Amino acid sequence: THFGFRDVPVGEKQKLVGQVFTSVARSYDLMNDLMSFGVHRLWKRHFVAISGIRRGDRVLDLAGGTGDIAALLRPVVGKDGEIVVGDINASMLQVGRDRMTDRGLVEGLRWSQLNAECLPFPDNSFDAVTMAFGLRNVTDKDKALADICRVLKPGGRALVLEFSRVQNEAFGKLYDFHSFNILPKLGKLFAGDADSYQYLAESIRKHPDQATLKGMMERAGFGKVEVRNLTNGIVAIHKGWKL
Ligand code: SAM
Repeated sequence: THFGFRDVPVGEKQKLVGQVFTSVARSYDLMNDLMSFGVHRLWKRHFVAISGIRRGDRVLDLAGGTGDIAALLRPVVGKDGEIVVGDINASMLQVGRDRMTDRGLVEGLRWSQLNAECLPFPDNSFDAVTMAFGLRNVTDKDKALADICRVLKPGGRALVLEFSRVQNEAFGKLYDFHSFNILPKLGKLFAGDADSYQYLAESIRKHPDQATLKGMMERAGFGKVEVRNLTNGIVAIHKGWKL
């Protein structure tokens, strides 16, 4: 059996997403490497490189999970900056915190267990909000986007890195095969958990495509929204400003 999220009430979905990430937290980093052939590291590095985030910025890394983006952002914001890693799942935050401590990265980092749909921060608090591979899991995405806009300072930016629509049909077929045949098998083999990775492939297919997400960001209050495809649109970066 797998998680048929289409048939599950909204509150239940949040609980199931929680379970998925609790069950994958420890194998999460290894699985990312296996599933994407390591390419997720390049996507994340590119995401931070084009973010426009600067020394001294205060950044919220939403759905920050095990801290990949925060670790890349740390040298960018420097010692005058601050990064708040926010995630709904305590196991993911714990793995992230341990890993960062091992790497000697603790200063200027805060960890906050939160739901992206109702952020526990005042209006106009951050220079930037980043969200990598997180929006897909949020039940009410419009609500989350509006709340991201609220906590940004005027002139601040939101950056969303997320799976999107592959632009080329032939490449799309290959990608589907990888997602629905290889991926659950990898999940079973390395994480003992095929269901969670089946959920992953399904959630990717259901996520709004480039143009839809752009429209959602505009409706949530963002201006000058830009979209960039990476790896033929397997993932896309959406950038928008709170004007
Ligand atoms: N950003 C990290 C990365 O790129 O490696 C982690 C991405 S992971 C695929 C998705 C994360 O979103 C999980 O850690 C999960 O707990 C978190 N998440 C899911 N729903 C959330 C919500 N409503 N609010 C905050 N975080 C959420």
